[in-house]
Amino acid sequence: MDHDHRFRPESLMMSYGYKPSLSEGAIKSPIFLTSTFVFKSAEEGKAFFEVAYGLRERRPHEEQGLIYSRINNPDLEILEDRLTLWDRSEDCAVFESGMSAITTVLLEFLAPGDLLVHSTPLYGGTDHFIHHFLKKIGVHTLAFTPGQERGDLEAMIRASGRADRLRMIYAETPANPTNDLIDIAACRRVADAFATPEAPVRVAVDNTYMGPLWQHPLAHGADFSIYSATKYIGGHSDLIAGAVCGSHETIGRVKALRTFLGNMASPHTGWMLMRSLETLKVRMDQQAINARHVAEFLAAHPKVGRVYYPGFIPEGTADHDTFRRQCTAAGAMLSFDVKGGEAEAFRLLNALRMVKLAVSLGGTESLAQHPATMTHAGVDPAHRQAMSITGSMVRLSVGVEHHADIIWDLGQALEQV
Ligand SMILES: *Cc1c(COP(=O)(O)O)cnc(C)c1O
Repeated sequence: MDHDHRFRPESLMMSYGYKPSLSEGAIKSPIFLTSTFVFKSAEEGKAFFEVAYGLRERRPHEEQGLIYSRINNPDLEILEDRLTLWDRSEDCAVFESGMSAITTVLLEFLAPGDLLVHSTPLYGGTDHFIHHFLKKIGVHTLAFTPGQERGDLEAMIRASGRADRLRMIYAETPANPTNDLIDIAACRRVADAFATPEAPVRVAVDNTYMGPLWQHPLAHGADFSIYSATKYIGGHSDLIAGAVCGSHETIGRVKALRTFLGNMASPHTGWMLMRSLETLKVRMDQQAINARHVAEFLAAHPKVGRVYYPGFIPEGTADHDTFRRQCTAAGAMLSFDVKGGEAEAFRLLNALRMVKLAVSLGGTESLAQHPATMTHAGVDPAHRQAMSITGSMVRLSVGVEHHADIIWDLGQALEQV
């Protein structure tokens, strides 16, 4: 009998971080719909503020007391504790959207004159924020592509003339909608090549596509694992939220900025996400199984061209090596080219009977959309073409339905093409 048993995250999602005795014995955390919290004494209020404002170090076993729901709230604190388990992070901060999680990290760790290096393609909202808002406040950017060699990237950073101002490498892997992989450990090595003790270079990874189950960026050297919790973590297409996992030091800074931007999640959203986390593992496992069946069906279909699915990366390639080191499953997002072009892709999308025609991903229901005219319509056409995002491409988020039903639906829709 092993007496130091370490429970797996999926086993802790129902209880971790919650004490029933503090809530009349309720087995589930109530929704703490309150703006403010009553102090037992003036001394207690003073002590809570000293810790919250960093006026002194926390004493041994002293917990941060509850003050005001913009600073902390039980539903968010319990949720954050649970989210640390998947990434094995020291701390986590939850937000009212994935975009607010991403933008708060960028704003806290970048200043005017700094250089941000980022992968392409990026989520549209992130791309817009970097190239419009950050540019406006004087942050310089440099893009790299999946498959670009580390030495080449380092040379590009040196040639920019701003290598001494490099402060962050931001990557999204697998990339949306092509499923191209970025090697996170290689990003860490590039960051370390330019970091100094006074000026660390942070590595941030948007882990929405594979996390929190199938990819753990912190284990590969990233400083941040960032989520649109709207997707797999929420998983039911019924809320918008975000999260960032990292160290005590970095998340402490992120939470401080969150307090002043006021972009924390609401107690109700926190509670919804806790409910979602209880089934995260079973949902995502089933979605990955379904995706493999769907990918194999599509690859064998005469009206389908290329299928973009991490499970099909050929062995012996650098990408396969990255995939093997970095991901524990092939995920449940895939794209494919319908033979022909936009007209053929649209015929397929309009003929679907069960799979819904909608953007977003990671929910229980399967969704299909057309990247070239929908999620990636804002991307420069030449750039879009270079990334293989053509009129033929359809992106699928595979849900928890029976895979035979998803395949039947795609099959009958393809027949009408
Ligand atoms: C949806 C998404 C976002 C933005 O998240 P919101 O919750 O919609 O704000 C960021 N990155 C990726 C990869 C996404 O899919």
